[in-house]
Amino acid sequence: MTFAATILTLYPEMFPGPLRLSLAGRALEEQRWSLDTVQIRDFATDKHRTVDDTPAGGGAGMVLRADVLAAAIDHARQLSPKSPVLAMTPRGRPMTQARIRELAAGPGVTILCGRFEGFDERIFDGRAVEEVSLGDIVLSGGEPAALAILDACIRLLPGVMGAPDSGTEESFENGLLEYPQFTRPQEWEGRTIPEVLRSGDHAKIAAWRKQRSEDDTRSRRPDLWERHTGARDQSASGARHED
Ligand code: SAH
Repeated sequence: MTFAATILTLYPEMFPGPLRLSLAGRALEEQRWSLDTVQIRDFATDKHRTVDDTPAGGGAGMVLRADVLAAAIDHARQLSPKSPVLAMTPRGRPMTQARIRELAAGPGVTILCGRFEGFDERIFDGRAVEEVSLGDIVLSGGEPAALAILDACIRLLPGVMGAPDSGTEESFENGLLEYPQFTRPQEWEGRTIPEVLRSGDHAKIAAWRKQRSEDDTRSRRPDLWERHTGARDQSASGARHED
């Protein structure tokens, strides 16, 4: 089955962009995913093809009009009726690997890219749209966020990644950061690879990796660690013990 990506944007030339190369590019050639872009401007109704207007209440910048956006969304929904519609906005819920996994398992995704000061808020009442943020940063447009989300979905599609395991040992897949990685040379600028990784003892290596994964998550991402231990305590106090 082909994962259908539909992107609503004022800059369709930005797609597939970097997704033309490497893993995603090969997968596109192999039709493991497909790409449609919708030019939001095509849904403007005046002769100047206006898509934005000044913010109600005043202030800097321009706001994308709800009527134009709705027409573009309605068109995209006809192209892929079963795909969820995501709007890129720093006001949205931060994207997670768990949500990426759900999306990748589905028929595809429709992504609405903002520009200027963003969207007329009424679009989120008027259409079923999931507001998604890439993180606590402000981009100049939703396109790089859409590319990042697509990339994350595509690498999980069946047949796209080489080793079937490499998707499941990754950072965030078990709520933790991945353990650190090393490769040859064995010694670089006087620094060596941890001895245990050269021991060939798979149980010891697994134990070392688990420990580093936990230690690093605790020190680097206390937010993830808290959620992880919270989830663990909850399942331990429930009927089913996981440890
Ligand atoms: N005035 C808005 C920012 C607009 S930035 C605010 O302060 O919330 C212009 C566009 O870039 C947005 O409409 C959105 O589509 C995109 N964008 C910016 N930062 C983003 C982020 N962290 N995640 C997803 N999209 C983002």
